[in-house]
Amino acid sequence: MRALILSDIHSNLQALNAVLAAAPEHDVVWNLGDVVGYGANPNEVIDRAREAGVVFVRGNHDRACCGLLSLEEFNPVAGRAAKWTRNVLSAEHIEWLRQIPAGPVMPDGPQVSCVHGSLLDEDEYVMTLRDAWAPLHEAATRINFFGHTHLQGGFATNGHEWFRLTPRYHSHTQAEEFELKLRDNVRYLVNPGSVGQPRDGDWRSAFAIYDDTQMTVTFCRVPYDMRHAQASIMQAGLPDRLATRLRDGR
Ligand code: ZN
Repeated sequence: MRALILSDIHSNLQALNAVLAAAPEHDVVWNLGDVVGYGANPNEVIDRAREAGVVFVRGNHDRACCGLLSLEEFNPVAGRAAKWTRNVLSAEHIEWLRQIPAGPVMPDGPQVSCVHGSLLDEDEYVMTLRDAWAPLHEAATRINFFGHTHLQGGFATNGHEWFRLTPRYHSHTQAEEFELKLRDNVRYLVNPGSVGQPRDGDWRSAFAIYDDTQMTVTFCRVPYDMRHAQASIMQAGLPDRLATRLRDGR
C-alpha cells in the first residue's frame, strides 16, 4: 500500500495541482489538515482535496474558517485570512470543514497515526527533539505523521538514541525526492511538509509517500506556479505578506 501524504495546503490551488500532477502512483491520500486559510482558492482546493482522498484530520485553520475556533487565537494576518475565507466559502464547504475529525486518526491498522499538531494535543507545534519526546514516548503507534509546523522532516527514536530526520536536496528549482528507510524497533514522527506554504526556506511544494511494503517514506519537493498563487492572493485583497512569504519559503 502506498499513501500520498499531504498537509497544510492552505488554499493554494496552484501548489495542490502541481503536487497531484507530480505524485507517483499511490493507493490512498492521507490529509493532515489546514486544507484552507492564507491562500486565495479555498473552495476549489476543498473540491480537489476531497476528490483526491478520504482520510482527513482537521487543522487549526480548518476550525477557524468554519467557526469552531475563535479568531482571537490567531495573529492579525492569519485572522484576516481566516475571516476572508469564512466569507467566501460555500455553505456546503463550511459544513464539510465542521465534520473533519480531530487527530489522531489511524488510517492503516495498529501501526500508523495521522495528526495535525502533536499526538497529545492537536494544536501543539512539534519543532524540536524536545517537543517530540513526549508524543513519541506516549504514542500508541510506531509510525506517526504530523503537520502544522510546515517543516518537512521529523524525529525518531530507538528508545535510547534520538534522531532528527532531515531530507537533503541539491536543487532549488527542480522536482526532487529523498528516501528514508524505516527501521524496525524505531518510532517515528514524520512531517511531509506543507503543500501550500512551506516554511523551511525552500519555496517548492512539499509532500511525502509512505510505502508499507518497502517500509519507506519518500520526501518530495516540486516546483509550482508560485506567481499565479501570489497574484491570486493580491487580487483577493488578502495581506501582501501571504504572497511574498511564498517566494522565501518562510
Ligand atoms: Zn498550517
